[in-house]
Amino acid sequence: MAVVTLKDVRKVYAGGVEAVKGVSIDIPDGGFCVLVGPSGCGKSTLLRMVAGLETISSGEVAIGDRVVNDIEPAERDIAMVFQNYALYPHMSVYDNIAYGLRNRKTPKDEIDRRVQEAARILAIEPFLQRKPRALSGGQRQRVAMGRAIVRKPQVFLFDEPLSNLDAKLRVQMRVEIKKLQRALGVTSIYVTHDQVEAMTLSDKLVVMSGGQVEQVGTPTEVYRRP
Ligand code: ADP
Ligand code: ADP
Repeated sequence: MAVVTLKDVRKVYAGGVEAVKGVSIDIPDGGFCVLVGPSGCGKSTLLRMVAGLETISSGEVAIGDRVVNDIEPAERDIAMVFQNYALYPHMSVYDNIAYGLRNRKTPKDEIDRRVQEAARILAIEPFLQRKPRALSGGQRQRVAMGRAIVRKPQVFLFDEPLSNLDAKLRVQMRVEIKKLQRALGVTSIYVTHDQVEAMTLSDKLVVMSGGQVEQVGTPTEVYRRP
């Protein structure tokens, strides 16, 4: 677990698009911060800079007391959950979840213990030997989350993880994500364009527009304003 600090972060893409224009946000240890705003306002770019998938043009991103601007994604102690699941189709659910731990040379019995624990928390134990294509959208999204929680990272990053699910499943997964984050207490940043999702999930809501922060507060504070 860790505090995440963004200080005057900017992103100018090659070609000159200024996607993020000086954003500063503090997320407390164990906090759930949602970045909400219309398509193109810079949410994904900001998240990808925290993840290390995009270079930072200026400013600072810190995880705990460590500035991570020039640190490789694999060294950042973060786990990211994507909209399109990003599962390996040829691997079983078990191997998908275990993949990151195997890469880190975690001992085999420790891997097994953690995969089984994640599968139990996410209720995907019956599917561990299946391939992703034999799962529903909701089950696949659970596997993607399993892959994130098994690493026991300091920070979770979510990029519109529920956008591809139908409305009923979105509501159900919203509740599950919140429960999971409360249980694990991992500092989280969650990107969405859905205001209901933003309101139900966040303790800290950041409303973005045109690459800048427009409002910050608890969901009640933000949505109560005229
Ligand atoms: P959001 O996640 O809020 O939809 P993005 O961060 O994806 O917003 O995009 C912010 C702006 O940056 C948009 O104008 C988008 O077209 C632009 N952009 C995003 N990725 C790139 C890229 N790789 N190269 C150039 N421009 C980009
Ligand atoms: P999202 O809405 O989730 O941000 P997009 O469909 O806008 O996704 O972008 C998908 C991919 O295309 C991302 O990797 C993004 O960085 C890239 N991208 C978006 N806008 C541009 C752009 N104007 N030029 C180059 N790449 C872009």
